[in-house]
Parts: sequence; C-alpha cells; structure tokens
Amino acid sequence: MSRRVHLLGTGGTIAGAQPDPRHAGYSAGVFPIERLLSAVPGLAELARLSWEQIVNIGSQDMDDSIWLALATRVNEHADGAAIDALLITHGTDTLEETAYFLSLVTANATPVVIVGAMRPATAISADGPGNLYNGVAVAADPRAPGRGTLLCMDGEIHRPRYAVKTSTMGANAFSSLLGGLVGVVQTGRVAWFEPAPAIRAATFSVAGLDRLPRVDVLIAHAGMNADLIDAAVAAGARGLVIAGVGSGNMSARAIARLADAAASGVAVVRSSRVPRSMVLRNGEVDDDRYGFVAARDLNPGKSRVLLQLALTTTNDTQLIQEVFERC
Ligand code: GLU
Repeated sequence: MSRRVHLLGTGGTIAGAQPDPRHAGYSAGVFPIERLLSAVPGLAELARLSWEQIVNIGSQDMDDSIWLALATRVNEHADGAAIDALLITHGTDTLEETAYFLSLVTANATPVVIVGAMRPATAISADGPGNLYNGVAVAADPRAPGRGTLLCMDGEIHRPRYAVKTSTMGANAFSSLLGGLVGVVQTGRVAWFEPAPAIRAATFSVAGLDRLPRVDVLIAHAGMNADLIDAAVAAGARGLVIAGVGSGNMSARAIARLADAAASGVAVVRSSRVPRSMVLRNGEVDDDRYGFVAARDLNPGKSRVLLQLALTTTNDTQLIQEVFERC
C-alpha cells in the first residue's frame, strides 16, 4: 500500500504566474496547490496525496504568525494517524529559514519535505513540477522517517541547518555549505548518504504561542555606526543578530553600543555575513567581556530563528550560547 503524503501549500515562485512566459516579470503565490499537482504526471503512483492551502504568498512575507500556524498544522498531522509524511511548497527566498524553524519545533519521526522552484509555474522549462515529483518521492520513501524536516531542490536533499540559498539564477539555487547533503533524488529515485537518525522529540515547543520574541538582524560593514542598533533596541528588539564582517566582527563603536544593549538584557548574537564562516566564541571579539553569543556556522537569518526560539525559554546568554552549540 502506498504511503500517504499530505501537502501544505504556502505560495512562492513554484506557484507563480507570468503574464507572458517570454518576459521575466511574474507574481509569486498565484496558483493553488491543487493546480500545481495537476501539472505533475505520475504523482499518484508515488503516494496517496491529500492537500490544503495554508497561505499563498511570496516567502518574503512569511512571518512569525504564519510560521506558528504552519508548525501547529505540521504537528497536528504528525501526531495524528491519517498521514505518513508531509510536503510543503514554499518560496525559495526564505525557504531555509522556514525549514530550519520547522526542524526545531517538530519531532523527526514524520518526514516534512519542503520544496520550491526558481522558475514560475508558467515558465518555459519550469522546475517546480520536477521538484514536486522528487519531493513527494523523498517524503514517501520508507527510509525517510527519522530525518525530520528536509529541503529538496533540484535533485538534492539538504538538512535545513546547512542549506543556504547561494544563487538567484538557475534551478540549482541551494548549497549545503559546511554540512553536506543528506542524499540525492533523480526522477523519484532516492539515494540516502547516511542512515536515518534515532527518533527524537522537538527541540522547542511552540504550542500555545501566538508570537515569537522580536529579533532584528543588522549587517556590519566598514565603519559601521551604532544608529541602527539604537533604533532596533528602541523598537523593542529582545535580541539582535549581527551579520558581522569576517568572523563576526564589527566596528569598535558598534561593539561598545552592543555591549550596552547586552548589559541591559538584549541578547546579542554574532554571526557572519561571509557564506562559509565559523564564528567561534572569544575569537577576535571578547564575548565573555561584552556578554555576546557566538553563532558558530549558523548564518544570520537562521541565527535569528534560533535566537527567537531560545528567547522563548531563557534570557541567560550562557544558556543561549549552549543552544547555539547544540542546535
Ligand atoms: N520572493 C518569492 C518567494 O520567495 C519568489 C522567489 C522564489 O520562490 O524563488 O516566494
């Protein structure tokens, strides 16, 4: 009996439409999930499908409330007995953030595969149908349980922790920079590179939450001033992630102002704007002295996700640092 895969549509280029396929202009999040499925031959032979539309938006508009609604829906389906796996269609711009968020707030027993596309559904050589086909194959694979949330694009299966959008051109837009792929999939044939991990519970519970703590991301640059730090703190940020230069560094005046913010209870995380980076504690910046947290290899967008979740459990920077070592 084939496995039951439930699809959750959220929009993105995979659901996008162009007024004219010969021109670049298009709108993301136009077609409903059932229209996307109807464009893919042979899906019903891979799995028994059901679906629902959560939202239909460009993923730049994903926010905490949609993430929490999505997590609630994923957990309801995973806790029930009606389905074996989930597949989410999503815009690629924030795909890695949503995937990482879900990987932290759901158990890993039920596979949750997230797919997108770089070319709209109406494009000449649209990549969405192939990604959907492969995504359903990955979700339905009997060796998928235990792998939790996976990001599947252009035949590559990524862990959300390591997947990064590294290109705005072409279908091969994602790379697993420091972590490596979990597997590959070619026209529905899945090859895993490692056995599935043991079953584990969600790292964070978001049950009952209707918002997450505000965390802002600021990009460092040569001669960074402190004005935007002040603005973020004044706007009520409980955490700040700095996309630092090099190994999470920033100007002396930015460090001084962030140290003040940390002393007043704002969690400050040093990440890096460099794609392949490792921000270690007490490197060029003395985290112990300033009360900062080092993000290690987690990029700024995902550091924001992790800090938001960590702040639902603690304000203690030492404990938050431990979260960044563990997740
Ligand atoms: N900005 C849109 C989004 O992330 C379109 C980009 C895409 O899906 O590739 O949903």
